[in-house]
Amino acid sequence: MRLSQFHLHTSKEVPADAEVISHKLMLKAGMIRKLASGLYTWTPLGLRVLRKVERVVREEMDAAGAIEMLMPAVQPKELWEETGRWEKFGGQLLKIQDRKQAWYCYGPTHEEVITDFARNELASYKQLPVCFYQIQTKFRDEIRPRFGVMRAREFLMKDAYSFHLDDEGLDRQYRVMYDAYGRIFSRLGLQFRAVFADTGAIGGSASHEFHVLADSGEDAIAFSNGSDYAANTELAEALAPGERGAAGKTLHKLETPSQKTCEDVAALLGIELQRTVKSVAIVGEQGFALALVRGDHQVNPIKLGKLDGLADYRLASEAEILEHLGCEPGFLGPIGAKRAIRVIADRSVAAMADFVIGANERGFHLAGVNWGRDLPEPDLVADIRNVVAGDPSPDGRGTLGIARGIEVGHVFQLGRKYAQAMGCTVLDDSGKAATPSMGCYGIGVSRIVAAAIEQNHDDNGITWPEAMAPWRAVVCVINPKKDPAVGEAADALYRELNAAGIETALDDRGLRPGAMFADIELIGVPHRVVVSERGLAAGTFEYRQRRASEPENLGRAELMARLG
Ligand code: ATP
Ligand code: MG
Ligand code: MG
Ligand code: MG
Repeated sequence: MRLSQFHLHTSKEVPADAEVISHKLMLKAGMIRKLASGLYTWTPLGLRVLRKVERVVREEMDAAGAIEMLMPAVQPKELWEETGRWEKFGGQLLKIQDRKQAWYCYGPTHEEVITDFARNELASYKQLPVCFYQIQTKFRDEIRPRFGVMRAREFLMKDAYSFHLDDEGLDRQYRVMYDAYGRIFSRLGLQFRAVFADTGAIGGSASHEFHVLADSGEDAIAFSNGSDYAANTELAEALAPGERGAAGKTLHKLETPSQKTCEDVAALLGIELQRTVKSVAIVGEQGFALALVRGDHQVNPIKLGKLDGLADYRLASEAEILEHLGCEPGFLGPIGAKRAIRVIADRSVAAMADFVIGANERGFHLAGVNWGRDLPEPDLVADIRNVVAGDPSPDGRGTLGIARGIEVGHVFQLGRKYAQAMGCTVLDDSGKAATPSMGCYGIGVSRIVAAAIEQNHDDNGITWPEAMAPWRAVVCVINPKKDPAVGEAADALYRELNAAGIETALDDRGLRPGAMFADIELIGVPHRVVVSERGLAAGTFEYRQRRASEPENLGRAELMARLG
């Protein structure tokens, strides 16, 4: 690529609403442009990087035996009604109508569509196991789109779905995908951790998230220094009463009649709760009730009202709730529900002496539990949402450290939830109809680009890992007008490098060296080669690795060896 014929548009200014470094640098480098809240155009430069990520993801999915396909982004309401998610998915679901007033959504995820495909396509156990994937645009109407493409409303996801006759098959595939994810993030040059995770609105049993570690991460990851244990602190598993899950949590019977489950409060408020452990209800003695229904890890303030007979009950906006609580905007963002409750209790509704976290299981709750006192094996038990650095690891091995993470991937064992709800069956080897077990596996392709910058930047800009850089090398021409031989030599080198399979751009824009180098550093190209009159006379090229402190003068052979 000749940069004179490319569209490179860097800038020194960044809008004030860019909070994190990746957002700032993506704007400064001209990788993305904002269209509207949570909607971004990928410029030609940005798209080159996005495609690199996509390619690695695609190669590893193919290598893991997944088969690529492409499903529609727009999905009919009827499918979502079959699984009950038309209502349950909550405000993130963008609902749209066509000219005949028929309802659709813009897909935030594709369990319904793939299960519909499977029930039509899969007839026999002989077609299983099978794993389909796509790389496709999703839309989620996030409450707080922010950090550029990190939490956008429209974003690019790789989503894969596997179908199995039995749970052992699902287990095996889950492991295969888990390993493939490790390879993807390693190849992309990212520092990451796989952690136990909540299954959220997608549902299911086992689940792991992959996090890129970065201080700007919205999630807090607890990990042990004495074992492999690592978990997202938002972890809250859907458990049967008395059952203990990965984080060692157990459901408890309510102890006093003043405690209410979410369902009680929901019934009083006349609202619908999600069938996950993520709904929170607070009941105050003087009748205030605040139900925070969590669609995902954000705390979504949905309803606020007077419990007292509920005569005055009404909906409240997020702004009103914040004002009521005396909290700063942003408070209701990426924080755990329990912490939110603590702050609420301390800050404002002083009368709210008694509160409980409902567990969506009538008569049971998860909070107000004294873990040491209530549970016989304290070494296996932790309320992972409230851990602080230095707490013992739930597996009893080592102590926990806390790091911030950006969720870039998520694997779930869905089990038969979707297949059952949608009547998807195959004939097993005895000719009986069997409901397949499913897995689903997501990667935030566009989010990875931002997450990588969080880990790879310096004062001058982005320092891409090789696998993600828009080009591996740039040949910079100094003053070609003065001496045509310089331009010719640069051109020859540019062609030679590309011919050798080293993806190289030629900076022939005719900028002064300072401005040219600043751009190339900002956009983060790993290798820079300068062709100048002086170098030409000495028979050398000035070479600089993006992270090196100084350039070096290298002969042609040495240069090729360095770039090869
Ligand atoms: P988050 O907790 O960050 O909201 P999620 O758990 O809701 O993510 P999943 O349903 O697990 O997301 O989707 C799979 C992947 O899609 C996530 O791991 C993440 O990398 C990516 N993703 C989810 N929401 C967004 C978004 N708003 N913008 C960009 N990428 C996203
Ligand atoms: Mg989410
Ligand atoms: Mg999440
Ligand atoms: Mg997730």
